[in-house]
Amino acid sequence: MTNFEFYHFFDKENNCLNFFKKYYQRVLHKCPKCGHEKLKWSKKIIGWRCCKCSKKISLKSISFMRDSNKLFMDWLEILHLVCHSKKSVSINEIFRKSRQTRYETVYHMVQKIRVEMGKINSIDAINSYTEFMFLEMNRKVFMNLPLSIRMTFWKSPTRTRDKVRLVVPVFLHEAILNTKVQLLEKNNYPYKKLLFVNHEIVFNKKATQLSEEIINLKWRSHLRNNVMKLLKGIYHYTTGLHLQGVLDEYSFKYNYRNTKWCKLRMFMNLEIKCIRQNNGDSG
Ligand SMILES: [Zn+2]
Repeated sequence: MTNFEFYHFFDKENNCLNFFKKYYQRVLHKCPKCGHEKLKWSKKIIGWRCCKCSKKISLKSISFMRDSNKLFMDWLEILHLVCHSKKSVSINEIFRKSRQTRYETVYHMVQKIRVEMGKINSIDAINSYTEFMFLEMNRKVFMNLPLSIRMTFWKSPTRTRDKVRLVVPVFLHEAILNTKVQLLEKNNYPYKKLLFVNHEIVFNKKATQLSEEIINLKWRSHLRNNVMKLLKGIYHYTTGLHLQGVLDEYSFKYNYRNTKWCKLRMFMNLEIKCIRQNNGDSG
């Protein structure tokens, strides 16, 4: 979807709301309180109401946009700007292109979208892994770079549909969580809201590390060089705090680089697939 098409189709809040509603109603089968299967859409609460116990289920609360007071239109625009470009663009650039007036707001929204991308990457890319090391030289240029990054992946027979997820090492993940706790305790830290964005990492204990002979080394170093370029070129200021988010957006775009689908719809379809899988729901 081009920018022109996007702003043409989604110029009203109601269109954007309906776009999201169409996807999320696929995973809402029954009332979470009483289990009744008949739910009725209510414009007033922008959500569903259970026909038996009257429980309200707002659209936002069952989506990745929960706990946000931004319009669906704002969310869809940021989602479009993130997904639209083939390569990652900086949050600053997304901010400049968007209707938003505060950089922090856009930063927060992009992080939330990246968290979802991380979950989507984890659907397939979890069975095998390899590590790639960064050279000492690279680390001098980019101070927050860890020694190595783990690449979990699933290799497709034709190689065109390989799925990867790049993850920060376990020790760094733990260090990041500690830093967050420390920042939360500081009274004057201005971006507390951002600390609640949690880039989830599930370390699959059953994953097998593939030996150097099996891995296509050229492929691995190609990916490593791309990550280096990305971090040096766009994310000059990436602190370890949101490095996982950067890696997840990169992995997501890599995984779906060959798709002809509209990226927005593809993201939403994968998001729904992810929720279904987490709910153990096959329909
Ligand atoms: Zn109910």
